[in-house]
Amino acid sequence: MGELKSVTLDASESSGFATTKLDALLGWARKWSLFKYPFVTACCGMEFMALTSPRFDGSARFGAEAPRFSPRQSDLLWVVGTIAQRQAPVLKRIYEQMMEPKWVLAFGTCASCGGFYDNYTTVPGIDKIIPCDVYVPGCPPRPEAVIDGLMLLQDKIARGDKRPGIVKPREDPAAGVVRLRRNKEDRR
Ligand code: SF4
Repeated sequence: MGELKSVTLDASESSGFATTKLDALLGWARKWSLFKYPFVTACCGMEFMALTSPRFDGSARFGAEAPRFSPRQSDLLWVVGTIAQRQAPVLKRIYEQMMEPKWVLAFGTCASCGGFYDNYTTVPGIDKIIPCDVYVPGCPPRPEAVIDGLMLLQDKIARGDKRPGIVKPREDPAAGVVRLRRNKEDRR
């Protein structure tokens, strides 16, 4: 008869494995079920509407279609447009009312850094008031850029990455200007 050996499981290792798998599952579920709270204040709102239209379908296919107009039912705050100093306390309060985990997307240059409004009435970027996870520059940003931002956020959620991310332009804007000038010269 062979010798019986007792095998003991390392509790810390097994729970670590289960926790890692559970975190991955939660990350996957969260990134595909975002409930947005649109805080729309200015002209970027027009591009926000274009984003959600059937042409771009920029939220439904990413699991972020349903808007919630109660912060307690939302986990993704979209800050769309310029934020005036008088709106800052309202934005902060909405953010604080949202449940954890929660994320913030700055839609456009004004929300990201204040844009060209260099004056005492405008907040120079929402990160002066609340934490921001993804910045989408552009005045206004194209829907494709916002989709890039949403995908970047999904990736961060899945990996549990808390560092802020910035959407880079798909092409160098300066190169676009040069090409436009060349096209005009060719037509002469
Ligand atoms: S980034 Fe441009 S389009 Fe968007 S709110 Fe500011 S001025 Fe308007």
